[in-house]
Formats: sequence, structure tokens, C-alpha cells
Amino acid sequence: MYATRFKRTGDGIARRSLLTIGLLVLSSLSSAAQSPIPTGGPLPDRRGFNNSVNNPALTSQVEVIVRHVAGKVYVIAGAGGNIAVQAGDDGLLLVDDNFTVFYDQIMKRIREISDKPVRFVLNTHSHADHVQNNANLAKQGATVVAHPNTRLAMAQQANSPAPANPNAPAPVPAAGWPVVTSAEPMTFHFNGEDVLFIPLKPSHTNGDIAVYFTRSDVFAFGDVYTTDYPAMNVSQGGTVENFIDNYNLALKMTTPNTVFLPGHAQLSSRADLIAARDAVSTIHDRFVDMVKKGMTLDQIRAARPSREFDARFATESFAPNDMQNSTRWYEQMYNEARTHLPAR
Ligand SMILES: [Zn+2]
Repeated sequence: MYATRFKRTGDGIARRSLLTIGLLVLSSLSSAAQSPIPTGGPLPDRRGFNNSVNNPALTSQVEVIVRHVAGKVYVIAGAGGNIAVQAGDDGLLLVDDNFTVFYDQIMKRIREISDKPVRFVLNTHSHADHVQNNANLAKQGATVVAHPNTRLAMAQQANSPAPANPNAPAPVPAAGWPVVTSAEPMTFHFNGEDVLFIPLKPSHTNGDIAVYFTRSDVFAFGDVYTTDYPAMNVSQGGTVENFIDNYNLALKMTTPNTVFLPGHAQLSSRADLIAARDAVSTIHDRFVDMVKKGMTLDQIRAARPSREFDARFATESFAPNDMQNSTRWYEQMYNEARTHLPAR
């Protein structure tokens, strides 16, 4: 097209066309430098990553990446929990904020999405791999919001004596504790959509919440859903039945197209969440039957009621981690099934 114009027109216009071409090339080069945020591709999943400030060799191996999920929602992932970032004219709303050792990398990725201020940080639960940057973001002016039990857990962690393990993640300082807490559902009217804050039944912790971006149609689940068998905190009231109820609640309030963002691991479809729920509920029912028949935990292990689901849902099959595995889960399922025995 430019070549044609070069031939037909005089020298002046030809020069102007060349100038136009030059500007076009320049502008496409600069937009390549500010390349669009990719959609899709695997998210890094380093569950069980040890947040050791004493081990820069380990942390320097981690690359924090950003992906567009849907609508106004992005995910930032590296090691530690996935971060959801909703961006629009009103500013930024984050779900979780990961480890402090990755703060600079995370902020760099956030600035690739938007230069607006971080207005809200919603914590899905109290674990360090999800909340350790609360104080850093509060310092920027963000309001931290969570379940009251999450705030309580942070205060307890901060006030407990220094742990024997020097590599244990540092507690969140008081400046990063949630300033708004609620055990009831809330709605944030932000960036042109309703963002639902959804308290869940105790399962991963006693302060679990999920966040649903209704127009973007993205549901951030925290560690209540990590695409595998439940990571359950029994001492905080977690039960398998609560996990199932939480999954059902999420399925009831979302659409066929909702993208589920797990606390760790890959973006999931409705079908993925249904498959996880069905696996967990099938295994739970088998445990109840086996316990009713009087089988011991060892006998149940040998019978392996999770057999056909393990390849897909046993954590250690894709993220070696002794904190959360089907061995421990078998004990939890067994104990829960025993509570279903009729009282004598
Ligand atoms: Zn967790």
C-alpha cells in the first residue's frame, strides 16, 4: 500500500509516507515492550515452598508471573498462594498477597496490569503464603478485609513466642492485620461489578472466605479448593462435609462459564470443581460404609477407597508435600466417618 503511494505521488508525500512507516514501526516496537498480559498457560505451583529469608538461593529460583483470567481479573503466581487482581477505573482489589520475599516481583507484575492504587486486599485465610504482604499493601493505603478468625489467627501468630524453626514464615505485623472483618457476606461495588465476600464453613481454616467477581465471572477460592483432596484443619472445625458444602455453595451461586481460581494450582472449570466434589463425596461415603462394617484404618488403607481418584487428586502425585497428603487425609476421613456411627 505504501509502495503504491510512493510511485503515484510526488517526493514530498513519499517522504511523509516513509515518516509514517517509521512512526508505525516505532509505536509497534514500544507496544511490544509493553506486551499484553498473556491469557492461559500453566501457573507455577510450588506448594510447600519454604519461605526462608535465609535461603536466597531458593527464593531467587522463583519467577512471579501474571496472567489474564477473565473480565477484569488477573492472577499473579510464583510460589505461595495465587493472587487475584481485579483492575479497573476505581483502582485495584486483591485477593491474597503472598510472601514478603516476593513483594518487589509482585508489585512489578501489578504495575504491568495497572498503575492505579491498590484499594482493597481481601484475605482468604490466615496462612503466611497468602497474607504476608498485608502490611506492605496497607502502607500503600490498601484496606485489608477478612473473616474475624483470620484477624485473630494473625494476632495469635504475632504474639506467640518465636518459633524453634528459624525458617518459619514471619507473622504479619499489626500494621497488616485486617481493619475490616466480617463473618457475614458482604458486597464490594467496585470497578463496575459486584464483588462478593463469601464466608465459608470451617474447612481449610476457621476463617475461610471466597471471593466472587460476578461480572468477570471469576471465583477465588483460597485453599478450600486447590484442585486436589482437601487440605483440612480438623482442630479448627474443618470437616469433609464442610468442604463438600462449600463446593456446593460455589456451584449454586456461579455460572456454567465461571473460572475457579484455586489457592494453589491451575485455573479450573465448573466441570473440574464438580469432579473434585464428586471424588471427595464418593470417598467420604465409602469411608462411612467401611467404618460401619467395623473396618480399621489399616484395613481401609488396604482397600483404598480413593483408588480411581488418586492419580488426579492425591496432592503428592503432582506437588510433593508432606503437609497435605492422602496419608493424613485418610486418618481425617476415618475419624470423621467414625462420628457418623450411631450412638450406642
Ligand atoms: Zn493455606
